[in-house]
Amino acid sequence: MILLLKNLRNGQNHFELQALLASLDLPAEVRGETLGLDVRVQAEDGFLLFDFRAELFRERPCDRCAVELELEDTVAGRVTAFQGEELPQGVDPEEIHLIKPEDEEFSLAAELRDEILLTLEERVYCREDCKGLCPQCGQDLNEEACDCQKQEAAAGPLAGLARFRRDES
Ligand SMILES: [Zn+2]
Ligand SMILES: [Zn+2]
Repeated sequence: MILLLKNLRNGQNHFELQALLASLDLPAEVRGETLGLDVRVQAEDGFLLFDFRAELFRERPCDRCAVELELEDTVAGRVTAFQGEELPQGVDPEEIHLIKPEDEEFSLAAELRDEILLTLEERVYCREDCKGLCPQCGQDLNEEACDCQKQEAAAGPLAGLARFRRDES
């Protein structure tokens, strides 16, 4: 994820890099030792536009039923930089990185890590209609309905009311 700036030419550039996952300090669900990173750089008038993309492999439980899943996600992001002594007038330093003339390399690590962490925040399900676990007994409702669910269904919506009347008498 570190680009050697001397390899950049004006116009379109394309690099394939291997990023060491250990150096990104990611949660344990991310699998593998390296991350293949595809980087396209558009260089023009001192401005550099980096578009990066990586395939992320991970293992984590379904957010409803907790069955272990193997997932593959595409993580992508864009970074803009300017090469020169200082940023041109009117350019927001929050949005555009300054690369000094003496700099030899540019790292995409921080942005790559941010994009990966955003991806990890998303909920995952083993399937769209996963029924999850019964909150009372923990039965996996994808396999079969449990007794709690059957009782509730049999009693119907007025069950609570009936109980209330019994208590009164
Ligand atoms: Zn599930
Ligand atoms: Zn149950």
